[in-house]
Amino acid sequence: MFTFEPARLPESTRKLRQEVREFLKSEQPPGKAQVDAWLGAFSPDFSRKLGKQGYIGMTWPRRYGGHERSELERYVVLEELLAAAAPVSLHWVADRQMGPLILRYGTEEQKQRYLPKMAQGESYWAIGMSEPGAGSDLAAITAKLVPDGPGYRLSGQKIWTSGAHRSHYMMTLVRSGETSSDRHQGLTNVIVDLADPAVAIRPIRILNGEHHFNEVFFHDVSIPPESVLGVVGDGWTQVTEELAHERSGPERFLSTLPLLRSLSTYARSHDHVAFVREIMPLISELVTIRELSLAIAVILSQGGHPVVEAAVVKDMGTKLERKITEVAERILPQVPGCDQDDFTRLVTDSLLHGPGFTIRGGTNEILQGIIARGLGTR
Ligand SMILES: Cc1cc2nc3c(=O)[nH]c(=O)nc-3n(C[C@H](O)[C@H](O)[C@H](O)COP(=O)(O)OP(=O)(O)OC[C@H]3O[C@@H](n4cnc5c(N)ncnc54)[C@H](O)[C@@H]3O)c2cc1C
Repeated sequence: MFTFEPARLPESTRKLRQEVREFLKSEQPPGKAQVDAWLGAFSPDFSRKLGKQGYIGMTWPRRYGGHERSELERYVVLEELLAAAAPVSLHWVADRQMGPLILRYGTEEQKQRYLPKMAQGESYWAIGMSEPGAGSDLAAITAKLVPDGPGYRLSGQKIWTSGAHRSHYMMTLVRSGETSSDRHQGLTNVIVDLADPAVAIRPIRILNGEHHFNEVFFHDVSIPPESVLGVVGDGWTQVTEELAHERSGPERFLSTLPLLRSLSTYARSHDHVAFVREIMPLISELVTIRELSLAIAVILSQGGHPVVEAAVVKDMGTKLERKITEVAERILPQVPGCDQDDFTRLVTDSLLHGPGFTIRGGTNEILQGIIARGLGTR
């Protein structure tokens, strides 16, 4: 089963929201709003400023560079950054996923070494899970870690690695033991330094030439023992927990918010019937999904592991992102691809990014399987 308790944002978050808006007014680099800004728009300077302002690693302990604020306060900051389509992609994965993972499973040395730089917005991380033969079936991974002297050696390949070409490290799920009948055994997370010359990063471009994900090859990369996250063989448990952080946040339904805004403005002045019939339902759906996502922030703040709840939010949220694109494409008076105005540009970009919405972070079919199991129907 799963639970979504209604969550109310505390009064203190009103002031914080205002502060973030003021910060964005003065510090957000100028530029056109884009879809998927959290995955593609970047600015080292802006990430550093966010770190300085205390908007990264917000919930982490102060002794590791964090700010000991609540999950709901963090949620408000994320919402504002996403609504403004701010260039946050460099530090996003570190803040959302890798910091919490290291906090929970890392050694004291790893916490002290990696977390403060992450919180300063100066350390960028990639997620090394998928391989050519292992996506939905993640336990099929074959990247291999073998003992070598006091440490290990890593060989194999990852694919679809967002931002690897701009990241310093990749949390990499590898096979560290013999494959047994339980494929979830013998998996380990290791921290790979992407500047290592034995690591090769090759771009994969989408149709318009944009480069945000990659293939990453390991040619006998030397992995020191201190780069193993937690305990050898604990990888599957760690990854399963990490996915709740990866799947539940507001970026799973706000990627196309700039398009929804532009669509609403256009339809209000050109096609009022479409506004009432098609766009208002999108907005009410967005509000509902936000309530569900907020409820998950509360569960996370209480130390829970809302894996099934996160699957619900990501399934609903990413379908909404695609629906926004479909409605916009229908209402758009000209053919997408002609880059005349902001509305057309946003529709074009959403069409190009759209297939990824319901695939990245686990496909919707897989999420529905998790939900079915959570409901006890499978
Ligand atoms: C934009 C984007 C960014 C990404 N970034 C990263 C990243 O940073 N790091 C990373 O590790 N990975 C990343 N990925 C990879 C992503 O996690 C995988 O693409 C995803 O898990 C699906 O795996 P696959 O591509 O191998 O497809 P497959 O697993 O081969 O799936 C193909 C199709 O079969 C369906 N299917 C598979 N198994 C089942 C089943 N049991 N029941 C029903 N249907 C099923 C799937 O739903 C899908 O429709 C990214 C992907 C995208 C699109």
